[in-house]
Amino acid sequence: MSRQVLLSREARADDSQAHDHGTHDIAPDLAYKRLSVVNVVFLGIPDTPNWLLVDTGIPGSGPAIVKAAQERFGDFPPRGILLTHGHLDHCGSLHALLETWDVPVYAHPLEHPYLTGQAAYPEADPSVGGGGFSLLSPLLSTGPFDFSSHLQALPEDGAFPSRPDFRWIHTPGHTAGHVSFWRERDQTLIAGDAFLTTNQESLFSIFLQTPEMHGPPQPFTPDWPAAADSVRRLRELRPELVVSGHGRAMRGPEMLAALDKLADEFEFIAVPQKGRYLNDPANAANGKAYRQRR
Ligand SMILES: [Zn+2]
Repeated sequence: MSRQVLLSREARADDSQAHDHGTHDIAPDLAYKRLSVVNVVFLGIPDTPNWLLVDTGIPGSGPAIVKAAQERFGDFPPRGILLTHGHLDHCGSLHALLETWDVPVYAHPLEHPYLTGQAAYPEADPSVGGGGFSLLSPLLSTGPFDFSSHLQALPEDGAFPSRPDFRWIHTPGHTAGHVSFWRERDQTLIAGDAFLTTNQESLFSIFLQTPEMHGPPQPFTPDWPAAADSVRRLRELRPELVVSGHGRAMRGPEMLAALDKLADEFEFIAVPQKGRYLNDPANAANGKAYRQRR
């Protein structure tokens, strides 16, 4: 029995080439851009002001994000920047972007300690996840970072004033305050790192973006029971289109069948067989306290 849930080319939501670093349109008001190993998402109709940016890539991605945004929306800045979570590959260009755009940054309250310089994430577990870790680890500092001047709470009713069609959903596990974004109208899910559509631990897969339904990145996920629960709740939404933090956007029945398999067999497919956090989920609300306890 295989631990891999591979997806065919037919499940891709865009048909561009594997090494195309452009912005991929996947709905009239939805596009994503692959920056190095991580995706950012543009929510909004081109050439209109009510748009939001989801995540900001690794450090150094700022100019590419601004350029793509200007091509898509002209000189309108985003109404806000949404963070699925505060890992460095998702907030790495936030400082640079805030120098161009003086806009609010939204993240779940449980992520705020890591985004205001108060706490660092639990350390990555180098014993799980395979060969990709050694290459990626320099990119994935656990912080802390301080964006307190722009950080705001997510809207309490779930919907964003500028894009009320999208709601946030708390999907902890990969981090304590991880959120995903959901649009009921066309069953669109922006999953962040709750689950992935490539194997982020395989160098081969990262560079080729081999389509695969995959759990959250193993070395950086401290609470596996919560991660399993989050994937099972997202699967219950029956998404038609999925953009995750890593890998290509995927859509359709094959994608959904793969997500069902991941959810049904999460402990077998996604959870490492050994590792630091397996029997002792990190107190992810306070990574520093966890480290001091060790
Ligand atoms: Zn992450």
